[in-house]
Amino acid sequence: MSDKIKYFLEESKMPKTWYNIAADLPKPLSPVLHPGTLKPIGPDDLAPLFPMALIGQEVSQDREIEIPEPVREIYKQWRPSPLYRARKLEKALDTTAKIYYKYEGVSPTGSHKPNTAVAQAFFNKEEGTKKITTETGAGQWGSSLAFACSIFKIELDVYMVKVSYEQKPYRKMIMQTFGANCYASPSNRTPTGKAILEKDPNNTGSLGIAISEAVEMAAQDDHTKYSLGSVLNHVLMHQTIVGNEAIMQMEMADDYPDILVGCTGGGSNFSGLAFPFLGKKFREKKDIKVIACEPKSCPTLTKGKFAYDFGDTGMRTPLVKMHTLGSSFMPPSTHSGGLRYHGMAPLVSHLTDLGAIEPKAFGQKECFEAGVKFANAEGIVPAPEATHAVKGAIDAALECKKNGEKKTILFNLCGHGHFDMQAYGDYFNNKLSDDRYNEADANKALEKLPKIA
Ligand SMILES: *Cc1c(COP(=O)(O)O)cnc(C)c1O
Repeated sequence: MSDKIKYFLEESKMPKTWYNIAADLPKPLSPVLHPGTLKPIGPDDLAPLFPMALIGQEVSQDREIEIPEPVREIYKQWRPSPLYRARKLEKALDTTAKIYYKYEGVSPTGSHKPNTAVAQAFFNKEEGTKKITTETGAGQWGSSLAFACSIFKIELDVYMVKVSYEQKPYRKMIMQTFGANCYASPSNRTPTGKAILEKDPNNTGSLGIAISEAVEMAAQDDHTKYSLGSVLNHVLMHQTIVGNEAIMQMEMADDYPDILVGCTGGGSNFSGLAFPFLGKKFREKKDIKVIACEPKSCPTLTKGKFAYDFGDTGMRTPLVKMHTLGSSFMPPSTHSGGLRYHGMAPLVSHLTDLGAIEPKAFGQKECFEAGVKFANAEGIVPAPEATHAVKGAIDAALECKKNGEKKTILFNLCGHGHFDMQAYGDYFNNKLSDDRYNEADANKALEKLPKIA
């Protein structure tokens, strides 16, 4: 056995396709419904918001979808991303398990998000889109799409959740650097934003509200499209470049994971790593345990209901069947902005319902503790969101130690925390709030779920 810590794939071996798990699902996804007619929607219903190529990917049943050459050329700036063996962390934990991590913090904006941002900007450009609108939580998605839109010369308006807009000014400035416009949401620019501000001028915003604002602006203009950084099938598929590379890198390491771990906000980085391995499980019966880590303050998979709901607070999107805390639920503000979403990707929800994914919820403090431990062992400061995956991986490794098991763990370190050091500061100064999940509020929001016969 080699004692390598770093597995770099050659550029020439970079995967040329994305993986579409729809082809291998044991049971098909429930249809997306029109909010008015409650009938399954067709491509025409989505055409005002998305380019046809992405709509085609959203409903495709093909297992492999080619990554266009221009997208692969841009990916080459940071892909293939490295896979590391966390030998120092293993030692610090004194575990019998082997721990590997795939590091997506090497991208230009420091997370996995450019994997789909570049693809979405490319397909929009091909179909003549002049302007894109989107929402962003902590600003990871907004800055990634701003980077991608600057490459393809597309104008970009970003609605940024107000609490993050105020707490995290640096990501806003990255968006400005790439030429994008960034507005605090709720804003006075849209009907949904105005209505919310009228009722509650101090509303700090949520991803659900920001989505409503961005969708409204795109729907009213023919040359403007909307883009989402997570949740949708095509977004998750673009992220599978991560897992496709990881499969090859695990082969280089002469190993195969028994346990996969990722953090889930909308589900995209988790799916990017997990879906290609889950595909192997479904096709080749290669067993694997897959753990989705979410915050206790927004416990969509562990406490939510698997039901049809809106993707946004303004109730403008189609209805999707997913784990949800209710589209009117306002998750409390935490430092893991990227994980504050009332819903979850339909594909992740479906696979959790089928028992292929095991969800776990963790508190803020235990996650930062894990993040600091990881940083001291491996020298990389994880994004607050990513600390949930670190915590999940450390727990799995300690479980192996307890049972004397020599399992192999692989987790997705989906981003670095360099713009989130205020969060670490709050952790060090004991200023992190306890995890407040208001079950009564969620139950109230769940009572308002659309009634589907
Ligand atoms: C956006 C983001 C997330 C949450 O989104 P997913 O779609 O669940 O991946 C998690 N981590 C980081 C670093 C992010 O930027």
